[in-house]
Amino acid sequence: MALATRGFPLLLTFELDAETIWTARDPAYAARPVLMSQGAYGWKIGIWRVIDLLRRYALQATFFVPGIVVEQRPQVIEALLRDGHEIAHHGHTHAAVETLTEAAERAEMEHGIAAIRRATGAPPRGYRSPSGELSRRTPALLRDYGFGYASNFRDDDSAYLLEVAGAPTDIVELPCRAVMDDATFFEHAPVLPDRVMQPPAAVLDVWTSELDTLEAEDRLMVLTLHPALIGQPSRLPVLDGIIQHALSTGDVWIGRCDEISDDLRPRLLAGG
Ligand SMILES: [Zn+2]
Repeated sequence: MALATRGFPLLLTFELDAETIWTARDPAYAARPVLMSQGAYGWKIGIWRVIDLLRRYALQATFFVPGIVVEQRPQVIEALLRDGHEIAHHGHTHAAVETLTEAAERAEMEHGIAAIRRATGAPPRGYRSPSGELSRRTPALLRDYGFGYASNFRDDDSAYLLEVAGAPTDIVELPCRAVMDDATFFEHAPVLPDRVMQPPAAVLDVWTSELDTLEAEDRLMVLTLHPALIGQPSRLPVLDGIIQHALSTGDVWIGRCDEISDDLRPRLLAGG
């Protein structure tokens, strides 16, 4: 029996980091306008291509957006909400949570929640760490702040319930691996000298293979995508291609993280 009621779950998750992808690494980067403009491509150009593509298939997705980007780009947030997309928590300044004091981590949580609540009318349901890492206290904070799901760990290909200090919660973890992250293949910048751009066709091949195996095993697939990267002309066809491949299999549910985690939670709580 399929774990989710509406088919194999494919979660298209987007991180709209904008300029925070650089300022969170080093505040001094704010004085490098061309580097910063590489982040601006996400909200100026890439996001609109992504929105158009999702609209063509009538799909809804989840967008993890740092609080200050929510505040700075209301026209983007309004466009996402108009099309039924979900806005979820991705820190406030994209600061790496594992480097923060408890007070600073709480401030990142609270400011990010407040920014999303002001823009959408409701607090965010889900959380993804901006740095791909958590602090030891993050899971307890997610429970205390009332999150319904999170998407951070790399230890499984199926959803599970997050534990806090050995005690189960009802927070659904949607694990994500680096091989399903566009940044692994496409991120490239003068301040990241080790990164080499990969050919888009190779990435589509990797993701198609992932999807086929994950679907055959009745698990789920979480793609992590950045509009600044996947929204470039040679790369958008990778997203289009994986959507087409998923739809061609006939039994795939491409949906928002909040909907899919709400669907999975009762069976996870029941031990299924
Ligand atoms: Zn990010």
